[in-house]
Amino acid sequence: MKSIVCTEPGNLIIEERSDPTPPKGWVTLKMKRIGLCGTDFHIFKGLHPFLEYPRVMGHELSGEILETPKNSRFSVGDRVIINPYLSCGNCVSCKKNKSNCCVNLKVLGVHTDGGMCEFLCLPERAIYPARGLTLSEAAMVEFLSIGAHAVSRGQLLAGSHILVIGAGPIGLGVALFASFEEACTVAILDVNPERVAFAQNLGDGFTGFVVDDDIDQRLREFTKGDMFDVVFDATGNAQSMEKGLNYTAHGGACVFVSVVKDIIKFSDPFFHAREMQIIGSRNATRVDFENVIDKIHSGKIPSSELNSHNIDLFDLPKQLPTWIEDGGGLVKAIAHL
Ligand SMILES: [Zn+2]
Ligand SMILES: [Zn+2]
Repeated sequence: MKSIVCTEPGNLIIEERSDPTPPKGWVTLKMKRIGLCGTDFHIFKGLHPFLEYPRVMGHELSGEILETPKNSRFSVGDRVIINPYLSCGNCVSCKKNKSNCCVNLKVLGVHTDGGMCEFLCLPERAIYPARGLTLSEAAMVEFLSIGAHAVSRGQLLAGSHILVIGAGPIGLGVALFASFEEACTVAILDVNPERVAFAQNLGDGFTGFVVDDDIDQRLREFTKGDMFDVVFDATGNAQSMEKGLNYTAHGGACVFVSVVKDIIKFSDPFFHAREMQIIGSRNATRVDFENVIDKIHSGKIPSSELNSHNIDLFDLPKQLPTWIEDGGGLVKAIAHL
């Protein structure tokens, strides 16, 4: 089969590899759609902390069942969504039903070869029925479920004021899922005015803020001095994460959605005065995937607006460097095959 392989930072090639054979009880899938995200760009640029090359990228995946084991709950031809977080099922976290932060977690396309290839073999527990979603919608479920998971971690109360920092695809997912909570107001903050404008058009009643010298003052005025009940950071930037803590109200919470390699510092008196919570959010669980599927079904997710770019998978080695240099207007690119 043909695969797209990142052999080393900056080098993406089409490589002929042998077709995979499924271990006992696994299904074989024909890959159909692969969403591209910041993680893939990081891998290509060599910025991913623990990545071993060569690597087949691709973790936002949908496909069709090609072959099933005996007594499978799937049939040949079924359209499916792939959960790329392969958990062990036995560790302290898995036993608490938190497979998203499994001690032995392997993510397809990061720790192990992913979906930028023609065929993939997976255990059935990593595959969910697409339930009538289009193949492209099905490939968008993974990144949206990261937003859905973060919002569930934030435990929003009705009428909360929410701030989402970072208007990339993950931040947009967070903002959408926060807006589904009862009577919550959602503000979005980013350094990029184009991204802020896009976000504002996407959601019902989102208020956009572009970072400038007066931003602290403007956010304070917007919240009548209180600041925000729950702040979500989806920037992948340590300075922004530290800044975001300052935008949290008394009794509020700050959810770190994206991860950085740095040490995050904060003032203890500030933290204690607010009795604030700092909450980590990592990946997503099956519950989040199903929640996203339901929301796409109900028409609440503007999936065609989010899917800004489409490409044939085997044109990606030519196109990816261009997108990295000038990502103008790129929200969610999806590769087809
Ligand atoms: Zn992703
Ligand atoms: Zn585990």
